[in-house]
Amino acid sequence: MKTIAEINQKIKDGDITVLTAKELCDAVRSGESISVEDVDVVTTATRGIMSGTLAILSFPVADPGVFSRAEQVFLNGVPANAGPCPNEHLGIIDLVVHGTAERDARYGGGHLFRDLIRGAGIEVAVKASGTGAGTDAEITTTIDIDDIPFARMLTTRSAYRNYNAFVNPGETLSTIFSVADFKGNCSEAMFGGCGEINPLEKDAGTIGVGTRILLNGAVGYVLGEGTRSTSVRRNLSLFADMHEMDGSCISGFVTSAGPDLINSIAVPIPVLNKDVLSRASRLDSEIELPVVDIRTRKEIGRIDYSQVWRSGSDPLVTFEPSLCIHCSACNVKCPTGAFTGSEVIDDLCCNCGHCASVCAGEAFAAEMGSIVLRGREIPITLRHSDRRGAIKLADDLKQMIERGSFLLAEPVQRLGELI
Ligand code: SF4
Ligand code: SF4
Repeated sequence: MKTIAEINQKIKDGDITVLTAKELCDAVRSGESISVEDVDVVTTATRGIMSGTLAILSFPVADPGVFSRAEQVFLNGVPANAGPCPNEHLGIIDLVVHGTAERDARYGGGHLFRDLIRGAGIEVAVKASGTGAGTDAEITTTIDIDDIPFARMLTTRSAYRNYNAFVNPGETLSTIFSVADFKGNCSEAMFGGCGEINPLEKDAGTIGVGTRILLNGAVGYVLGEGTRSTSVRRNLSLFADMHEMDGSCISGFVTSAGPDLINSIAVPIPVLNKDVLSRASRLDSEIELPVVDIRTRKEIGRIDYSQVWRSGSDPLVTFEPSLCIHCSACNVKCPTGAFTGSEVIDDLCCNCGHCASVCAGEAFAAEMGSIVLRGREIPITLRHSDRRGAIKLADDLKQMIERGSFLLAEPVQRLGELI
């Protein structure tokens, strides 16, 4: 048995042993025997589409007395919800901005958050009432993150304990789970979840309210379970300060049903005892992946994560410009905007594989693989999760712990317990 206090003392003493979840799984696969004495912390991570994300922003836009209430606010054209505090007469606006809010089909809350975090100038348009002259005021200004004293990101449903694979047995349709239309007749499959490196999948009850985590590169905390979290498939609600975030960890993601966003989350698992180590050692082949009918969301089969994240294969997607045959209309509708037509911007690419699935030439390459459902092999055309990016996040957290710049926090309450 170890305690979190003892593990933190080892971090302070520079005597800590940290393995990433991938390193632990690789060791297990190679037959190595790892005991509780051999490892103090296992770092886990997930990165992918996480719709339930919002930003809470509060900042001044006018001198006190100019207006009494903000009625409508747009940031780079993305609609924000004014409130909850009306801040009468102070010239300050409090806002809630949803990650899925849309300016248009290609730009939404996720794009806005990334622009903000990267320090870009953001155009603010406010329709305000109570000007004293009896007329409404229109205030426009440009701000950046340094002009926003309070900028907090909150996730309402994130870091699911893995997810689903989807197929469409019916007609072609548009959905938030696809980039182009989702083809029918089970001719393609899409899936989410980082399998054996996923935080909640690897945890035997150490994560709880108050657990310290990384959200988009910033130190943050677990608020508790997220919406629609259940005992068999938990997810987390998290928060962190947007000023501390790394813009390369977040991006917009355009689905065929509108804009969404990509988040990055890393969580340390303290190896307190044998049960924790045993759970953290689970491999892709031991983790089930339900296959779901996209139309009804009903399960129609069950596989495991070793089918979609094949051992030894690299989840990286590559682009070789010399192999582009310059089609008259390029098929690639890159959901993050990483593909410009001539190059791929590394820190925007989430290795979703859409490009490799639709490229008419051989410019893009990825080992996308396939799932086998009722004896039928169905090619994977889109990943909702970026396992390669998550492996890097887990490694980044490992290095922070080894450097002594990240201590573990004792949760104040277990997940699933009533407050
Ligand atoms: S579909 Fe592929 S080969 Fe054709 S223009 Fe696009 S990247 Fe180039
Ligand atoms: S894998 Fe391809 S489609 Fe997906 S984000 Fe990267 S470049 Fe864009």
